[in-house]
Amino acid sequence: MKIALIAHDRKKDNLIQFAIAYRDILAEHDLYATGTTGLLISEETGLTITRFRSGPLGGDQQIGAMIANDDMDMVFFFRDPLTAQPHEPDVAALVRLCDLYHIPLATNMGTAEILLKGLKEGFVDWRIIQERRQ
Ligand code: PGA
Repeated sequence: MKIALIAHDRKKDNLIQFAIAYRDILAEHDLYATGTTGLLISEETGLTITRFRSGPLGGDQQIGAMIANDDMDMVFFFRDPLTAQPHEPDVAALVRLCDLYHIPLATNMGTAEILLKGLKEGFVDWRIIQERRQ
């Protein structure tokens, strides 16, 4: 599975703590991240992460392109609901693409935990359901 990790500045600690807690599950997958998020998580966990540009410099859009190319399976995007972001349009576009392509998206730790536990148990069949409908 290809998993994207993104956190706004005031949520980076949250995502790092999450990645430390669930390191073993994350280590079984191909991880991608925006620049700073990826750097911090890899430093704290030792996980191998493919890093894109920083979010405000286009990193969100690079991950969005993977989603549009059917090349991303799950997104953890810890947004900061209290701070205006210079790249708000990119943030909205990424969320929109997740909805468009049925990509599981966690924007907070509560949902992230359930998604990752679901992934571990193997009960994420949305792609199979989607294929059956086409
Ligand atoms: P960053 O980007 O990981 O480079 O900080 C995240 C974002 O703000 O979208």
